[in-house]
Amino acid sequence: MNILKCLIIGSGPAGLTAAIYASRAGLSPVVYEGMQPGGQLTQTTEIENFPGYPNGTTGTEMMEDLHKQAARFGAEINWGIATKVDFSKRPFSVTIDDANEVLAHTVIIATGASAKYLGIADEQKYAGNGVSACATCDGFFYRKKTVAVVGGGDTACEEALYLASLCKKVYLIVRRNVLRASQVMQQRVFDAENIEVLFEHQTLGLTGDGVVEGANLVKFKGTDKEEQIHIDIDGFFLGIGHQPNSEVFKPYIETDAAGYILTQGKSQQTNIEGIYAAGDVADPTYRQAITSAGTGCKAAIEAERYLRDKGI
Ligand code: NDP
Repeated sequence: MNILKCLIIGSGPAGLTAAIYASRAGLSPVVYEGMQPGGQLTQTTEIENFPGYPNGTTGTEMMEDLHKQAARFGAEINWGIATKVDFSKRPFSVTIDDANEVLAHTVIIATGASAKYLGIADEQKYAGNGVSACATCDGFFYRKKTVAVVGGGDTACEEALYLASLCKKVYLIVRRNVLRASQVMQQRVFDAENIEVLFEHQTLGLTGDGVVEGANLVKFKGTDKEEQIHIDIDGFFLGIGHQPNSEVFKPYIETDAAGYILTQGKSQQTNIEGIYAAGDVADPTYRQAITSAGTGCKAAIEAERYLRDKGI
């Protein structure tokens, strides 16, 4: 059976940057794209903070360019999800789509993170019928309608602003009395005439006959001013952060309590020599395209050095 020098799992900025560096280093990397080819950036709109794009770009464009750049140097990019791994022996074994076993001398885990949900039953009940975690993907369906976005960070503000450009009205449901988002995003939200920020509100449930028609909220929860309110909405968008996609690796790879893969010091190496983690799956702090790309680059350089040291 063919043993790969370098297997890369995930195709966001971390995975594809690793693929560019690994292919240019002659490692003939094979990439499995994962659940969301191109990663989370394909769900964002404008990217204004990636160096080198003075006029900004879009997430989809950037990921297409990275894909082409990796393919240009010979990286093989395939559809497929890592469903099982065995990192107890070398070469490492990764099973793709419960069917194909792939053997590799080094593995770069760049599986990113996925949107979090509140955990209320109605999110399941109305999934695809008014509940979404991706404004860019689904916003189009809510043109001239009223929607709510939950969360107070940059994700929620970005979703709210995007939806505000399409919708009649956007509620931003924030559990504290402040936004966590960067100042520039906060200002844009406050300046948008059709965004109403509901500070100190939490979602109790959603209402509607088959599709979302409203939300029941609680205001000032746990205080003597606590009260329940109802808002009429057509769509309910989650913007409350992300969960690292590390579950399949956990039997072998050390993570923190939240599931972020732990790397050694300034390196991208995990607790196992020859296995590296890059991008959001290992980064609870920065979570930017540029930092993901940087760690993907580091992981590929470390894989190349490891292989050279081992004479592989
Ligand atoms: P954050 O963790 O920054 O924010 C999550 C938000 O959701 C917080 O306001 C949090 O509230 C709220 N929240 C979490 N859980 C719940 C819950 N159960 N119920 C209600 N509210 C909840 O995540 P983001 O995804 O917004 O951002 C992550 C990182 O990515 C940040 O560093 C951000 O700057 C970056 N980012 C940058 C963008 C850009 O530059 N364009 C775009 C998107 C993200 P609380 O504040 O009370 O904890």
